[in-house]
Amino acid sequence: MVLILCLYLQSGLAGDQTADANPIVTIEDQSTQQQLITVDLIVNGDYLVTMEPDSPVITNGAVAIKDGVIIAVGLASEISGQYSSKQVLAGDQRIVMPGLINGHSHAAMTLLRGVAEDLTLMDWLNNFIFPAEVEFVDADFVRIGAELACWEMIRGGTTTFVDMYYFPDETAKVVERCGMRAMIATTVIDQPSPDAKNAADAIQNGLAYIERWKEKNSRITPIFGPHASYTLNAEQLKTVHDAAKKAGVGVTMHMSESPFELEYSQNTYGKTSIEMLDSIGFLDPPVIAAHVVWPTAVEIPILVKRKVGVINNPTSNMKIASGIAPIVDMLDAGVRVGLGTDGAASNNDLDMWEEMRLAALSQKVAKMDPKVLPARTVLNMATLGGAQAIGLDKSIGSLRVGKRADLIQVSTEDVHFVPMYDVISHLIYVADEQDVASVIVDGRILMRDHDMLTIDTERVRSEANALAARIQKALYERQATIPEKQ
Ligand SMILES: [Zn+2]
Repeated sequence: MVLILCLYLQSGLAGDQTADANPIVTIEDQSTQQQLITVDLIVNGDYLVTMEPDSPVITNGAVAIKDGVIIAVGLASEISGQYSSKQVLAGDQRIVMPGLINGHSHAAMTLLRGVAEDLTLMDWLNNFIFPAEVEFVDADFVRIGAELACWEMIRGGTTTFVDMYYFPDETAKVVERCGMRAMIATTVIDQPSPDAKNAADAIQNGLAYIERWKEKNSRITPIFGPHASYTLNAEQLKTVHDAAKKAGVGVTMHMSESPFELEYSQNTYGKTSIEMLDSIGFLDPPVIAAHVVWPTAVEIPILVKRKVGVINNPTSNMKIASGIAPIVDMLDAGVRVGLGTDGAASNNDLDMWEEMRLAALSQKVAKMDPKVLPARTVLNMATLGGAQAIGLDKSIGSLRVGKRADLIQVSTEDVHFVPMYDVISHLIYVADEQDVASVIVDGRILMRDHDMLTIDTERVRSEANALAARIQKALYERQATIPEKQ
């Protein structure tokens, strides 16, 4: 009786079942069950979007996972015929797809969202963000801000992010605890920052950070994050490059972001920034370049030749009016292009669904051609293409046997999905972050049916609100003193 009940429960949880599934388990069924290969997790879906090149959407599909690795992808009936697991995510009204890859973020800046709005990039950076960071950012700020960001990213189906911020150990510890995957850069900037006096200090601190994290956790890749070619001179950039090379790690940097950068580079070096960076040998792979809004016709082939991963940040680029990056031209030329949110202070959220939608729409209107950047291409930028751009495509980005099990279930229960003629189209033009139901990274469930399993939501909310209240009070007090001083 116990055995029959167990088998009934197992078949009842096995995802592809319907409400009227036969609960009777016969002796024949038992022998079949016993031959099944035991795995750690089976994830089912009405639709399986693998993002493997040329792979069609599989109807009623499933993924089997063992030891954090995808060991089978196929029809749910085939998977349930070969594998069994105590953990099964049902597939009714679910789309299964690779987790989203946020290629450029400043996670802890969630605590500065909304702090300064409607400003140009240089005004925003120099008069608001940099001073606020020096005043308020410490290890505790980064711990709380990064955890708030990870909560938001998990909720929205992001499984991997590339981050650039101060106190990177704190972000790494948050990622270690919450189960996400991340490349976390230690920021190098030649001005007093929250965690270094100048560029030389930041490089020294950065090397120590990389040493601490290089082999520590397979989900965490420490890298260098030189801020930009206008906040570091050519010699300092070369020093960061050499330090990264020696440490055997990659680099991520803001590149060709605004007309200011172009003008600065032209005036300082007689070359635009990507050309200048190439001329000093900075672009040896692996380099992840955020923004790249203004590459010249000479620079795009350099990005291809050097295998630079470009991260498009449409919301931030539009909000700060940096411009619309020539994504279509770069993709046509063979540049590896992914997508990112940038920090929450210039977005103001970490919603990759919004980035996908805006990437598509902004390119269509920029080219005055609705055919450019179709839905599948944009979905690729957030998954396999994003993985290529950040150099992790051998292990993540698509649902393929042998890859790490980073995947999500998107719920189609919300009425805004009705009717559904085309799954990929709905993922780009309809789905929102609230539609993500379950999130799995490295085979571990981080969110199950909207239930956050690795972050205490109420603790993060109260810690973030308490810190933000202190920041707000200090900002009001500072503003109140300005007229008296004048
Ligand atoms: Zn940025």
